[in-house]
Amino acid sequence: MTLPLDTLIGTVSSRIIASADELTALDSAIGDADHGLNMKRGFEAVLADRAKISALPLPEALKAIGTTLVMKVGGASGPLYGTLFLTLAKELPADPTVADAARALSAAVDSLKARGKSDVGAKTMLDVLSPLAVLLASGGASFETVKSSVDGWAEATVPMKAIRGRASFLGDRSIGHMDPGARSSAIMVRAVCDVLEGTA
Ligand code: ADP
Ligand code: MG
Repeated sequence: MTLPLDTLIGTVSSRIIASADELTALDSAIGDADHGLNMKRGFEAVLADRAKISALPLPEALKAIGTTLVMKVGGASGPLYGTLFLTLAKELPADPTVADAARALSAAVDSLKARGKSDVGAKTMLDVLSPLAVLLASGGASFETVKSSVDGWAEATVPMKAIRGRASFLGDRSIGHMDPGARSSAIMVRAVCDVLEGTA
C-alpha cells in the first residue's frame, strides 16, 4: 500500500501538538510535567520539515522523523520514540503490507525494550506499543479494534505501579494515574488509523 505520508505526518503531528496540555497534565501527576512540551517541540520540528520528509520514500522519511525526535524531544521519551521510528525505518520497505508493518513494529518494540531496559507491565509507552505489535501480528484487526485497544491499554496503565522511568521514583504513589508515554503512543496510533481509514 502506498502510504499518504504528507497526511500522516500532518495528522499525527497536529494531534500530538493539540494534546500537549493533556500529556503535560499526566506527566505532572507522576513525572516532571514536560512530556507534552517535549512531544510538541519534536512534532513541531517534524511539521516544519513536512514537505521535505513527505517527498522521501517511507524508510528515509521514518529515518528523518526518528532523527528529528531524538534531537528535539529530549527527556526519556525522545531517544525512545527515536529508536522506535529509526527501527521502523530499517525494517519497512517503501510499500509495506500489513504483515510488513506487524513485523517491523515487533522489531521496533524489541529495540525500544532494549534501549529502555524495560518491558510490558512497567507503566510505560511499551504497555501500548508491545500489545499493539502482538495484535497486528495476529492479523485481521480492524481499525476500530486497533483504536479502541490502544485507548484501553493506555487506560490499563492507571492501576500499574511504575518500575521504569521517572515515575518509578514515586513507587506506590505512581498508582492511580495514566502513564503519559502510553497516552502519547495511543494518540499517535489512533491518528495513523484515522488517516489510513480515511476519517482523519
Ligand atoms: P522524562 O521522563 O525524562 O521527563 P518524558 O516526560 O518526555 O521524559 O517521557 C516520559 C515517558 O517516557 C513515560 O511516561 C514513559 O512512557 C516513557 N519512559 C520512560 N522511561 C522508559 C523506559 N525505560 N522504557 C520505556 N518507556 C519509558
Ligand atoms: Mg517528563
